[in-house]
Formats: sequence, C-alpha cells, structure tokens
Amino acid sequence: MVKFKFWGVRGSVPSPGKETNYYGGNTTCISIEDNRTFLIVDAGTGIRNINFYLKEKRLKKIYIILTHYHWDHLQGLPFFSPIFNPDIKIEIYGKKNVSEVLSFQMQQPYFPADYKNLPSKIEHKNIPQNFYIENIFVETIENNHPSGCVGLKFTFKNKKIVFITDNEIMDDKEGITTKKEFAEFIKGSEILIHDAQYTSKEIEIKRGWGHSTFDDVLGLAKMSDSKNIIFTHHDPMRRDNDLKKILNNLRRKNPHLNLKIAKEGMEIKFNGR
Ligand SMILES: [Zn+2]
Ligand SMILES: [Zn+2]
Repeated sequence: MVKFKFWGVRGSVPSPGKETNYYGGNTTCISIEDNRTFLIVDAGTGIRNINFYLKEKRLKKIYIILTHYHWDHLQGLPFFSPIFNPDIKIEIYGKKNVSEVLSFQMQQPYFPADYKNLPSKIEHKNIPQNFYIENIFVETIENNHPSGCVGLKFTFKNKKIVFITDNEIMDDKEGITTKKEFAEFIKGSEILIHDAQYTSKEIEIKRGWGHSTFDDVLGLAKMSDSKNIIFTHHDPMRRDNDLKKILNNLRRKNPHLNLKIAKEGMEIKFNGR
C-alpha cells in the first residue's frame, strides 16, 4: 500500500488562525510512503507535524525532494527533528546548489544551529530528469515559475500521481513549458494535484507571479483527460469559507469530475503492491 499525505497546503506564507483552520495554514509539504520508503516533497512549515508521526516509525533513511527554494517550501526544514538525529540518513534532492541554499538558510544570525554541522547524515543530490527513489519512479517537468520549480510525477507499480505546485499555466509559447506539454506529462495519471492560488479575477493583476487559477487547472484537466483533481497552494488570504464556496461552485459546474481542495491531514491510499 502506498500512502500520499498532505501536511501543508498553503502558499506563500504560513497563515494560521480561525479563518484557515479547516484546510490548514501550514505551507507546502507532502509525504509518500510505502512499507520501505518515506519520501517528503517540500519542507514548508507542514513538515514540522511529520516529527510526531516519525517518532513511532524509527526510520533509518528519509528522502526529501525540494521543488524549489522559495520560503514556503523550505521554511520548515530547520524544525524537522530528524536533521538533529545522528542515526538518520537524509537524502535531499534539489535543483542545483541544494547544499549551499540550505546552508544559507540555517546559519547565524538567521538560525542558531549551523546546517554544515548537523548531527544527521545528509546527502545532497541534483534532481535528475527521471529517477528512482527505491521503488518509486519520479519524472519531472519544468514549471513556469520565477526562479524555476519542478513538477513531479510519481509512479508506483502502475499507478501515477502528479504533483505540480507553484506553476503558472500559460498559453503556448509564453512560458518555459506549454499547456500541451503539461497535458502530455499528466495524461494517464490517477490524480492531478495542482497549484490554484488565484481566482480568474485575482490573476488579472498577478500574471507572471508563477501561479494558476482554478479555471486554468480545469482547462489542463480537460486537455489531459484527468478526472480526479486536487487544488493546492491556497492563497494565504483565502478563508476556509471562500474555499468551500469555490469548491461547491466548481463541483456544480463540473459534475463529471471528482474535485477536492487539499487539506492538512488528507490522505490518499493506493493498494496493489
Ligand atoms: Zn509556493
Ligand atoms: Zn514558489
């Protein structure tokens, strides 16, 4: 069994409070887990809650993929307790200079512990275009996002799940990757998880910021023939009630699709391995 879990679903900045409590205010972090692998994607503040979960697990090795280095995908790492455990090996994949970027984040005067002298054994790797993490096959695509970001497709046995955070779906030729190329990448996957930070109205003044709208994602879902869609990377100003309203509206207009809003603690389980 493979378990996919959301630990942080918020974009830009942590946004705790009673208005965001239902979907959660922690920034981006997900985990993918089977009986032999524990893989984390992005180290937003949601990663801190994995500490409690891992306490009972006694893992010897953890994998982390960082889609990019914006704060909301990195800020939780200094508070991820396995980095202080000498018995744990951590393999971190990132775009170039991952070790320099993380060393810069964790040093004085920003943080009391020095990244270069952490007790855990951390290995840094550049993200290849396609690679294996134990039994999980990972494919990447270049997102349209300021300073770059990678979209990810995970294949476990014959099931595929796509996680594309921080991506602006653009008309052909405007961005690095075209809508058609994204659609090709997504085609055949069980679930599409995609950034939907803005509404169609909001994006008018936020074009080029590297995020998509709910409608953009639905357009891509249509092109890639995806039926199960999960919207994530919620705007920090988006209240729970706003998200519920948006979801109800979209469900009414698209009864043939299975639409969900990513929520902290949400799990997707796949059988068959
Ligand atoms: Zn982000
Ligand atoms: Zn970003």
